[in-house]
Amino acid sequence: MRIVGLVKNSVVDYPGKIAAVIFSPGCNLDCYYCQNRPIIGPVKPEQSLPEAEVFAFLQKRRGLLDGVVFSGGEPTLQADLAAVMRKAKDWGYLVKLDTNGTNPAVLRTMVEQGLVDYVAMDLKAPFHKYAMICGEKSNTILDNIRESIAFLMTGKVPYEFRTTVVPELNEEDVLAMAAAIKGARLYVLQQYRVPDFVKRAGSVEANPSVKVASERQDIADLTARASAPQLLLAPHPPAFLRALARKASGLVEKVETRGI
Ligand code: SF4
Repeated sequence: MRIVGLVKNSVVDYPGKIAAVIFSPGCNLDCYYCQNRPIIGPVKPEQSLPEAEVFAFLQKRRGLLDGVVFSGGEPTLQADLAAVMRKAKDWGYLVKLDTNGTNPAVLRTMVEQGLVDYVAMDLKAPFHKYAMICGEKSNTILDNIRESIAFLMTGKVPYEFRTTVVPELNEEDVLAMAAAIKGARLYVLQQYRVPDFVKRAGSVEANPSVKVASERQDIADLTARASAPQLLLAPHPPAFLRALARKASGLVEKVETRGI
């Protein structure tokens, strides 16, 4: 499996657990605010971590960490994800999958093979706004996301749906998403952060480097999209997210806010 990042010890990525987080490259969406933009496209060989090194770490930490989180990018794009999850399970870890929900067949297979103990699935926007937020207009992808929602709501595995409440999502949008997962066990509203690459690019005008140039290109590319100016908007106030959580709580079993 291609791995481009390892957080060795996290208390925030797996609810109630101490976990390592493995980041795999590549994503089939292009959310304008993606914090992991450097890894969603093609990555250079030097950005990769040797799989053996990550496995050695996980073997050494058996019994000390509760779980392993597979994140990205979009981990379900990795052809050997199941094999790596199986190793983690064999070593006694709980396994959590972070996914954008675009690969329902992979999600179903992982769950039905008993390889996943918890799934966090992103809802990026109401379906008519996926194109604006994630650059994605394909009906197939949207149907896949609907299928993943329906599968998770069968309750075969503990799950949460989560939305980063970016500045251009309004109350109507969030309530439409809550309605799309009506009856779900948990809906998490996450605070938006201006992406680090935007902050860095704004502060290094006089000191260009290859890395910064590529980040500027990212911003230039994004500027071509209708949502790009929103990159510079401030997050919604915390009180707005709290109010949304109260309103959405009538549609799902539980709503939580994070990052406010
Ligand atoms: S789905 Fe996640 S990893 Fe992919 S572009 Fe969106 S925020 Fe980034």
